[in-house]
Amino acid sequence: MREVKIAQVAGLGTRAAGASGAGASGAAGRERRPVPELQALAARGETALGFDADYADVIGWVAKHFETPAVAVACSMADAVLPYVVSQQLPGVDVLFLETGYHFDETVATRHRVADLLDVRVVDVAAARSVAEQDAAEGPELFRRDPARCCALRKVEPLNAALGGYELWFTGVRRDEAPTRANTPLVTWDAKNGLVKVNPLAAWSYERLMEFSEQHVLPANPLLTQGYPSIGCRPCTARVAPGADPRSGRWAGTDKTECGLHT
Ligand code: SF4
Repeated sequence: MREVKIAQVAGLGTRAAGASGAGASGAAGRERRPVPELQALAARGETALGFDADYADVIGWVAKHFETPAVAVACSMADAVLPYVVSQQLPGVDVLFLETGYHFDETVATRHRVADLLDVRVVDVAAARSVAEQDAAEGPELFRRDPARCCALRKVEPLNAALGGYELWFTGVRRDEAPTRANTPLVTWDAKNGLVKVNPLAAWSYERLMEFSEQHVLPANPLLTQGYPSIGCRPCTARVAPGADPRSGRWAGTDKTECGLHT
């Protein structure tokens, strides 16, 4: 494996959601192509790949039309399948880890293993305020009183800022995860964040994901086999019973089902 570099989000360009992005500085100082050009590329990719193309063909399409510094991979550090398969065709790609300050120790350990073992550059994306600063400004345990605001402050806004320097991001969203994700496309234009969004594993099942991870001996969060098939922040992730909805442990006891990153 190639040497792994670690970077902090402070080095990335920033851009408000909805801004044109034309001429914006990219993650590696390169010029970001104008939004209309990227939108047209997304439309062409959606047409070319359809709804069921193989994950390797999806990533191959990205490698053909985008350069590595313009591409980001979002990873929650539950498993490392997405960073691995992307890095096979885009070596050295940036992997964005939302460092909310509320992760399980196992998740942080998985993040370090991904950085050590894969040909990627892990970028920690932190919120503007530390947890202590947020507690002082908003009151303690905002996640209990207003999880939507907590997710907005610690996940959605930091990710939007981090994505500003890129032309395209990969996510590991799968259609089998929740009814809200059943129609996830392989390639689409992400109007909220202003860049191309690619979901190469959209058609995969959880079983296929785990099988692939084991076959390729990839880093995996040990919590996956301890009753946590979907892993988020520690205060908002509960163990689920065998056979239960995998995402039922996220924000259990509330009507919240998504953090807002993919809605
Ligand atoms: S998952 Fe919970 S702790 Fe994490 S950002 Fe959202 S509300 Fe806050």
